[in-house]
Amino acid sequence: MTNITLILGDITDQTVDAVVNAANSSLLGGGGVDGAIHRRGGSDILDECRALRASHYGGGLPAGQAVATTAGRLPARWVIHTVGPVFSANEDRSATLASCYRESLRVADELGVRTVAFPAVSTGVYRWPLTDAARIALDAVRAADTSVTEARFVLFDQPAYDAFETALRGD
Ligand code: ADP
Repeated sequence: MTNITLILGDITDQTVDAVVNAANSSLLGGGGVDGAIHRRGGSDILDECRALRASHYGGGLPAGQAVATTAGRLPARWVIHTVGPVFSANEDRSATLASCYRESLRVADELGVRTVAFPAVSTGVYRWPLTDAARIALDAVRAADTSVTEARFVLFDQPAYDAFETALRGD
C-alpha cells in the first residue's frame, strides 16, 4: 500500500528515488517547479529532455503523460516529468490532471522505485484551484495500483499544505 505523506518544503531538497516535475510540454524548462529542478539538477536533465524531443517526443510531451530522465545533481535518482493541464473554467480537465499522477506512478513502477515526491501539479502557472487539485491528486494516488511505498506531496506554501491536509483528512 502506498503511504501518502505531506510536507511543506521545496521539492529539490527531497531525498527520494524520484521527484516529479510539473513540466510543460516542450520539456525544455520553464518557471516554478520546472525552473527549480533544472537550476538545481544541472544541465544533464536538459540534455536528456532534448534527446527525448529529438526521438519519441518530437511534438512534445502531451498533458497527462509522464517520462523519466536522470535527476542530475538533485538528491534523487530520477526526475519524472509530467505535464499538467491548464485549468479551464468551462472545460473539465480533471481526468488529465488525475492521469499525471497515475502515469507518473506507472513510470515509477517501470523504474522499480519506491519513494516518489510530487508537487501540486497545475496549481501554479496553470492556475488550478488548490482545493480541487488536492482532491484530484489524492484520489488518483489512492486509486493507483502501484508498488511505490511512499508518495510524498511537497507543498511549497502554507495554503497549498493546508489544502492537501484538509483533502487528506477527507473533510
Ligand atoms: P504548473 O505549471 O503545473 O502550474 P508550477 O511549477 O507553476 O506548475 O506550480 C505548481 C505548484 O508547485 C505550485 O503550487 C507552486 O507553488 C509549487 N512550487 C513552485 N516551486 C516549487 C518547489 N521548488 N518545490 C515544490 N513546489 C513548488
